[in-house]
Amino acid sequence: MNITANNPALKSWVEVDKSSDFPIQNLPFGIVKNKQLSARAASRIGDFAIDLFALFQLGYLDGLGFEQADFDNNRFNQLMKKGKDGTRMLRNRLAELFSTDNNTLQNKKEDQEKVLIPIAEIENEMPVHVGDYTDFYSSIEHATNVGTLFRDPENALLPNWKYIPVGYHGRASSIILSGEEIHRPKGQQKPKDDEPPVFGPCKLLDFELEMAFITYDGKPLGESISTKEADDFIFGMVLFNDWSARDIQKWEYVPLGPFLAKNFASSISAWIVTLDALEPFRVKGPEQDPKVFPYLEYQGEKNIDINLEVLIQPEEHDEASSICRSNYKYMYWNQTQQLAHHTINGCNIKAGDMYASGTISGPTEDSYGSMLELSWKGSKTVKLKGGEERKFIQDKDTVIMRGHCEKDGVRIGFGEVSTKVLPAK
Ligand code: CA
Repeated sequence: MNITANNPALKSWVEVDKSSDFPIQNLPFGIVKNKQLSARAASRIGDFAIDLFALFQLGYLDGLGFEQADFDNNRFNQLMKKGKDGTRMLRNRLAELFSTDNNTLQNKKEDQEKVLIPIAEIENEMPVHVGDYTDFYSSIEHATNVGTLFRDPENALLPNWKYIPVGYHGRASSIILSGEEIHRPKGQQKPKDDEPPVFGPCKLLDFELEMAFITYDGKPLGESISTKEADDFIFGMVLFNDWSARDIQKWEYVPLGPFLAKNFASSISAWIVTLDALEPFRVKGPEQDPKVFPYLEYQGEKNIDINLEVLIQPEEHDEASSICRSNYKYMYWNQTQQLAHHTINGCNIKAGDMYASGTISGPTEDSYGSMLELSWKGSKTVKLKGGEERKFIQDKDTVIMRGHCEKDGVRIGFGEVSTKVLPAK
């Protein structure tokens, strides 16, 4: 089935600003609600949410095989059971309905009022129920920086890194939506090598600039998804801030890996941008040497050119300071390989599962995706507007991440993920 919604020539009768992340070629999916409307499935165009439940009730989604419960629902998991063909048909229908070439909804003012809700009048909810969450470690620049800082600059990458898309199973229950505040975590730390550990609020609180992909239902337990099939099992992507407590992490991670340093919160952006909408922005990934195992080989361009930015806004400032610009295209292991690796042992995947990329650092010092790297383990400061400086994240700081693709005059974006840090409880 063609992705007709991606046509760069499409224009909408809904006015969309040129700088918007949400033109007619995006049409992402999310959950919205307000005082009058129960939580329901929605899409977005410009500064409007598209109420998919209302659109369904008015008959505009007839003939696509959906039922009311797919839209009258506070999560997308049920609708995602329709798989890639289902969500592709839905997005194509939306592009048709909101295009200037089509009169059905364009000529019905009273229906438009039921379907289009100004973004300022709604709030988002978590778009999916996340059953399982996996965190990869797939940026070679990030893994090299961390290896250099904590081990040996001569052997910064561990021997397995170029053979295996390294990852671990994280915590799904503490994945939260943009806008929700978090408290600084407490825990054990060992600041001095020759002294016993201490307990208290984390002192080295950090963000990790990541993207996450969300899957449809996969295959039965025991079967694998090949790199050729992987895209058919990926619904879309969100911005992902994988909060990290570096001092807690350093003391606890031996021998089983990250635990309480990582599971207190991870924040996501509200709108799931479909993998379909991102297809025009595919680019070639880095050369992989040594040659990967056959099950990790892939055809075509599988990286995606997504510009990423991180900003810090201290409480007393009106303006946020940009501290990092990176790009998802730098990933050494792409998501096709990540999913093939994840299932090669027969591990099953479910609709709504989330897979974070790992911190996305680029080659230059201003493209590092964590404070650990930007401050080079606290050995230098990151300058903010108004003369302030940071080595790690302080109480009452808000960390904002943004992402967008741009090509042939079309800009597809993710909006932002924004999280304020409150003092430890
Ligand atoms: Ca991470």
